Amino acid sequence: MKQQLTIALSKGRILKETLPLLAAADIVPAEDIFSSRKLIFDTNHEHIKFVVIRATDVPTYVEYGGADMGIAGKDVLLEHGAEGLYEPLDLKIARCKLMVAGMKDAPPVEGRMKVASKFVNVTRDYFAAQGRQVDIIKLYGAMELAPIMGLADRIVDIVDTGNTLRANGLEPMETIADDISSRLVVGQASMKMKYQQIQPILDKLADAVAAREAGETA
Ligand code: AMP
Repeated sequence: MKQQLTIALSKGRILKETLPLLAAADIVPAEDIFSSRKLIFDTNHEHIKFVVIRATDVPTYVEYGGADMGIAGKDVLLEHGAEGLYEPLDLKIARCKLMVAGMKDAPPVEGRMKVASKFVNVTRDYFAAQGRQVDIIKLYGAMELAPIMGLADRIVDIVDTGNTLRANGLEPMETIADDISSRLVVGQASMKMKYQQIQPILDKLADAVAAREAGETA
């Protein structure tokens, strides 16, 4: 009898790139996730289920054992912290950078700088490591608006092409992390208890990632 395994997937843009990788590892949802309002999905394996949740909730579910493993962006994992989690595999999808940005040609800020971000922990740690004094303003979206409206001097946000920044008159200024991508995380307790079930999935996913990379560079 195989033990039940729950895999937490992030809703949104990561999901579209995640499902083909899981399919290459022979794990396929039993119905179309995108056209359903369900939160829990059966797969082609009786003992494996997906839960589809907000990206920021994935590490929380996996840390506390609500899911055995999950897929989330490194940005979300940096913000959450690594407690209770193993991060055994870089899926190398949804690649982007975490950057400091501000209005184009903005002068250096004198004194305390106001920084808006949804990544408050990452932002605090980054500036603290440099001994720079900042006030952090927590936002949940549309960070680019904050400097335009005078709410903040700088933002810390995900940058892929830079189009969103440019379209709003902003520019990237400093790179906090240039290796953001989706990662597979496994709960430390699940890894111990369900190693027999989890290890073959890790191996298959690692092969799928390698095959995808080889295909891209070929
Ligand atoms: P871009 O205009 O290509 O620089 O994309 C910037 C916006 O898209 C950011 O504000 C993010 O919200 C979002 N974004 C881009 N790439 C990712 C990613 N890999 N993961 C999550 N959000 C992303």
